[in-house]
Amino acid sequence: MRIGFWFNAAATAACMAGAASIAQAQNFPSKPVTMLIPFAAGGPTDVVGRLVGEHMGCTLGQPVIIENAVGAAGTLAGQRLMGSPADGHVILIGHTGTHAAAVSLNPNLKYRPVEDFAPVGLVNINPIFLTVRKTHPSGTLAEFVTWVKANEKAASNAHAGVGSVSHTTCLLFNTVLGVKPNGVPYRGTGPAMNDLVAGQVDYLCDQAVNVAPQHRAGTIKTLAVASTARATALPDVPTSTEGGVPDFKVEVWNAMFAPKDTPAPAVAKLNQALKAALADATVKAKLNELGAEIPSAELQEPAGLRSFVGAEIERWAPIIKASGVKVE
Ligand code: ASP
Repeated sequence: MRIGFWFNAAATAACMAGAASIAQAQNFPSKPVTMLIPFAAGGPTDVVGRLVGEHMGCTLGQPVIIENAVGAAGTLAGQRLMGSPADGHVILIGHTGTHAAAVSLNPNLKYRPVEDFAPVGLVNINPIFLTVRKTHPSGTLAEFVTWVKANEKAASNAHAGVGSVSHTTCLLFNTVLGVKPNGVPYRGTGPAMNDLVAGQVDYLCDQAVNVAPQHRAGTIKTLAVASTARATALPDVPTSTEGGVPDFKVEVWNAMFAPKDTPAPAVAKLNQALKAALADATVKAKLNELGAEIPSAELQEPAGLRSFVGAEIERWAPIIKASGVKVE
């Protein structure tokens, strides 16, 4: 599992640096806060959640306990949050899939991302990389395009479930090329990446948080970043435009939510703790090293996140429609 010592180091440093505790004067939080992570341990959502959660625990004066509430491409965690007490002691890290694309993809989605939660703030924005197993015959995006068009029936595309961002972002790539490979679902891209490293699957679209350490270790091949510019975390990786697939452009995000009727002072404290984590030099450096970008001040606010999620739901609707994919 790729969750290293630096979580503890970062948290200790953060707490020792005296991250101002805001717990004393108020009732919230009166006990540890549970952070629901909709995907398996070791994947991007988990890594970012643990990093930010440890620092938030210092600020809140109560530990933030991570719980991997996995299932249905991350949407079960949303259901769990809806049924949790609305007092701020249970929060969730959602993402582009669980809180935007799922609306168009999943006719049975049990929640409305804007109406049914209290937004806390956007956590990070992540570039998406197209990666292949190290033993794959393709060494460039152009070669991979030729390969996958010729081998789509045999090609295996790992993802974290229909509606996860690894699914929807590769769906965009596959739709642009007009190929329908075999989808191989996992409980998160942590385990999916493990199988890519082991050479069990051909390709995976994933975030720098997960990709960068493997890329640097040379255990996978990273063929492109789906952004307009090269990623600062992996500057040697060409953009999709450089690789000849300019329409493969997509970024994803993580965001924090509380149950809908959480009292405003508790949401405000969670937001304050989130912003303190994102402003902390150690957390910031780690997120940047992992290829994640810190959102603008406006998007770190509940109101900014609320309108952002609404816009993202709109943005993903035509992409999902064009792909013809639906959750059964
Ligand atoms: N973010 C990944 C996805 O949705 C899952 C994960 O974080 O493990 O594909």
